[in-house]
Amino acid sequence: MICKPLKADVLMRTLEQIAAALQGYDPQALAVAQVQAFLQALVTPLPDTANEEIPLLEAAERVLSHDVISPIDVPAHDNSAMDGYAFRGQDLTPTQDTVLRIVGTAFAGKAWQGTVQAGECLRIMTGAILPAGLDTVVPQELCRLNEADATVTLPGNTVRPGDNRRLRGEDLRQGAAALRQGQRITPAALGLLASLGLPRVKVMRRLRVAYFSTGDEVLSLGEAAREGAIYDSNRYTVFGMLRRLGCEVIDLGVVPDDPSRLEQAFSAAAQQADAVITSGGVSVGEADFTKAMMKKLGDVAFWKIAMRPGRPMAVGRIGSAVLFGLPGNPVAVMVTFLAFVRPALLHMMGCTDTPAPMLKARSLERLRKKPGRTEYQRGIVTRNAQGQLEVRTTGNQGSGVLSSMVSGNGLIVLDHAQGDVALGDEVDVLMFEGAL
Ligand code: AMP
Ligand code: MG
Repeated sequence: MICKPLKADVLMRTLEQIAAALQGYDPQALAVAQVQAFLQALVTPLPDTANEEIPLLEAAERVLSHDVISPIDVPAHDNSAMDGYAFRGQDLTPTQDTVLRIVGTAFAGKAWQGTVQAGECLRIMTGAILPAGLDTVVPQELCRLNEADATVTLPGNTVRPGDNRRLRGEDLRQGAAALRQGQRITPAALGLLASLGLPRVKVMRRLRVAYFSTGDEVLSLGEAAREGAIYDSNRYTVFGMLRRLGCEVIDLGVVPDDPSRLEQAFSAAAQQADAVITSGGVSVGEADFTKAMMKKLGDVAFWKIAMRPGRPMAVGRIGSAVLFGLPGNPVAVMVTFLAFVRPALLHMMGCTDTPAPMLKARSLERLRKKPGRTEYQRGIVTRNAQGQLEVRTTGNQGSGVLSSMVSGNGLIVLDHAQGDVALGDEVDVLMFEGAL
């Protein structure tokens, strides 16, 4: 049976607990912002029991389970930011030529042995250690080399003391947190970890997410087409979106509207996964068994959300897994995933990164919009000759028109309270890049 007793590390509080905490909501008319707040309260981060330490090259997109304390100063020495000549800043005669005698050459990767006295300089390469006492570098192109007497002449006002020097520890200080627990390991973070000389890193375990599509009319790839049937696209968009989040995915296929098959699928999903995502079968008047089975097997609420596309959604728990029952329409699946599932999964993964900000773009079209619901229109965002962002819609905004998600590069988010948009009005846009 699925409904095993709650584990200590349960990922979701009960709906009742949360409903009690969130006063005054009507599950049949929820605003998008309420649902988002509700889900943040509902799901809890994975307990970090695995304490997994993995090689850096496997850590891309994972979430740090501990602060990373820098074992060294980066850079480890004061060094030159330019190819040029290093000298003592106090030797500069600000408005007139300064002439310095070259006493040697310092290359990156090995310390130059010797001392540089007042009135002298060292030819230096980018990244080479600045010997003690030298604090300023003049780029070679800003001075004149006098080969005959091995001197350089710096014209007045070319550099100031301290210029073109990289200070020891200016990037990272030994003993300070270089990265924080909860940060996702981006390409930049990978590079930063490598710059600290760390070959391994401690990460949260990957979130396991099981998903399946429901509906008698839904065909798996490879099945022969038949009248009235459609190929399953939701499992593929969900797979792609989960992959972008770095989740471990469990694909349970297409499940027909058959109680025993649905029970099996929910059972398998709940036993293996931290979260279960289904699509289809949650709208009103559905002639299928998905809702009934969710109700039977779990602690599930059926919400109607004031949004378009989207609207019906089931949220709750099956066994110890969090359940997201998404609508069936392909665009609605992607939009509800982006608006609700993605932030909830990131929260479960322990990720504390700030979400990507919305941008403002000028609408190149009039848009009809009813106050009292949030609308997500697919948009093509471009930059005009003046450098301003502009957006037009992709055309047909039907919730089944998946091609709009491919031709668009962002969502135009029309807020709950907002009415019609006039030509040239600024609208919020949420770029797909990185998220979808
Ligand atoms: P439902 O919410 O189950 O009534 O589905 C709403 C619409 O989405 C119907 O037109 C379904 O045929 C379509 N749909 C449901 N599941 C899928 C799927 N996995 N792939 C593509 N379309 C789907
Ligand atoms: Mg259906």
